[in-house]
Amino acid sequence: MLGSLLLGASRLPLVRRAVSGVPLTRKVVDRFVAGETPQDAVEAIRHLAAAGLAVSVDHLGEETKDAAAAAQTARAYATLLSPLGELGLGDRAEVSVKLSAVGQALGTDGDKIALENARQICEAARACGANVTLDMEDHTTVDSTLETLRALREDFPSVGVAVQSYLFRSEADCRDLAYRGSRVRLVKGAYAEPASVAHQHKNEVDRAYVRCLRILMSGAGYPMVATHDDRLISITETLADRFGRSPGDYEYQMLYGIRTDRQQALAGAGHVMRVYIPYGDDWYGYFMRRLAERPANIAFFLRALGGK
Ligand code: FAD
Repeated sequence: MLGSLLLGASRLPLVRRAVSGVPLTRKVVDRFVAGETPQDAVEAIRHLAAAGLAVSVDHLGEETKDAAAAAQTARAYATLLSPLGELGLGDRAEVSVKLSAVGQALGTDGDKIALENARQICEAARACGANVTLDMEDHTTVDSTLETLRALREDFPSVGVAVQSYLFRSEADCRDLAYRGSRVRLVKGAYAEPASVAHQHKNEVDRAYVRCLRILMSGAGYPMVATHDDRLISITETLADRFGRSPGDYEYQMLYGIRTDRQQALAGAGHVMRVYIPYGDDWYGYFMRRLAERPANIAFFLRALGGK
């Protein structure tokens, strides 16, 4: 209930201004966001890479309403990717892209603009040996995102995509995507979705996650298991045994600042453990989704506002 309210509020400009204006908010944001500049992001990547972790970097921003800002986001990715190549971090790095940040939300030409900007990001990533994965946003964007993925994969076959288990359609999408070379990040889903398209209860979302996971782990693609949920991690291990997958034939992913001990333990056990690192100043939507996921984060936020 509180989670749905926060997800609703995450799209209200008035609440956005109120939350962003509280100076202490920044302290709490820092728990989930690596910083505002590309240098901050590179520093975080360097630190995690030294600890044996792989990364996926997200330049924060979404639902861009003007073409110049969309092009600027594509340039921001290129700016980030070039030092990664120079530092030799390319092969440990991936970037995550929200198509709505690069033009998808721009009306009739939106898909075309987003595809063009995404292509530029893919070129920059290729130049330093890094991969690109498309984040999945609210359900109204799924068809367009999968269409853009198909177009990008013609030239950049390693582009990955996120699939959200809470959507009824996702088992079918997993079946379509479980082919050789196809990188698929499975998540539960982080947006407020109506009952007409998505499971509403946590246990239904979890059960759907297992069904999607089974399709991906038994298929020919490369599953990227993005969850902090121990039960799902242990089911992944059972499925890996059953379908003859070794560490490296699939990977785990978690968010920056969440369950860092577990991240380290999975990497220590020989798994590819990729940490999703958001950076940039447009942190509001991302931050609100993290608060909505876990009541304890709201308590943490309120304590920080109270100066404790
Ligand atoms: P949950 O049942 O929510 O959590 C399991 C346990 O993990 C909790 O009990 C708690 O211990 C811990 N935990 C979970 N969330 C938090 C948190 N915010 N703070 C502290 N502890 C927490 N969603 C999309 O809709 N589209 C995407 O493209 C997308 N990309 C993602 C990429 C990565 C790498 C990850 C890890 C998640 C991504 N998500 C995305 C978010 C995802 O959909 C979930 O909202 C989020 O991962 C929480 O779900 P969970 O599987 O961890 O399970």
